[in-house]
Amino acid sequence: MDAASHVAIVEDDPDISRTMVSCLTEHGFKVTPARSGRDLDRVMSDSKVDLVILDVGLPGEDGLSICRRLRGKSTIPIIMVTAHGTDTDRIVGLELGADDYLPKPFNSRELVARVRAVMRRSAASEPAAVEASQTLVFEGWRLDMARRQLFDPTGATRSLTSGEFNILTIFCQNSRKVMSRDDLLDMLHGRAAAVFDRSIDVQISRLRRKIETSLKDPSFIKTVRYGGYVFTPQVIATAEASLQPP
Ligand code: CA
Repeated sequence: MDAASHVAIVEDDPDISRTMVSCLTEHGFKVTPARSGRDLDRVMSDSKVDLVILDVGLPGEDGLSICRRLRGKSTIPIIMVTAHGTDTDRIVGLELGADDYLPKPFNSRELVARVRAVMRRSAASEPAAVEASQTLVFEGWRLDMARRQLFDPTGATRSLTSGEFNILTIFCQNSRKVMSRDDLLDMLHGRAAAVFDRSIDVQISRLRRKIETSLKDPSFIKTVRYGGYVFTPQVIATAEASLQPP
């Protein structure tokens, strides 16, 4: 699956950058290094990039700002690289829509494992269980599987990260069923479960912020005892992927 996947690495430290490039290249990835956000923009306009590894500490535009900017326009998988011990960067990164984070220092095996896990998660929702042409409808909301887009009841698009899209898809496919974090992780094929386990609540709270009217009393995604969740709406699958929302 990864054989020809293209990874862009934004890192200003030449040693770290070189190490990451050679390690991922060895594992069969196509890798393009970039030193700044502007560099990355150039890489992305020149070629199709499948995943971005983004250092937080960069001269000029920092990694968090680049992450926010990318997320504004795409669901491309993003892994943030954070300095050791800076929890804030990690949390802000996830809040801004990064799919995972890698604290420095990390070893090559960890890097490859994270890249593979994030790629797998983002590919996971490329419709196995749901027909690519389907749209899942709940309470006036439409989740378009073909376009990987969410439309609110007014017909406006809500931008989702690939992680949020995957979670919402799973919720829709399992509506009115109580699901533990483990269930969710299994369905997300989260082999890097230990990592994702810590961020799943963050992703769900982010998703809530996008679809719930009240965060104090969420009506779609309810928390149940012992760390589980249940997606309450009735979900209808339609084949009308191309139907424009009202
Ligand atoms: Ca740096």
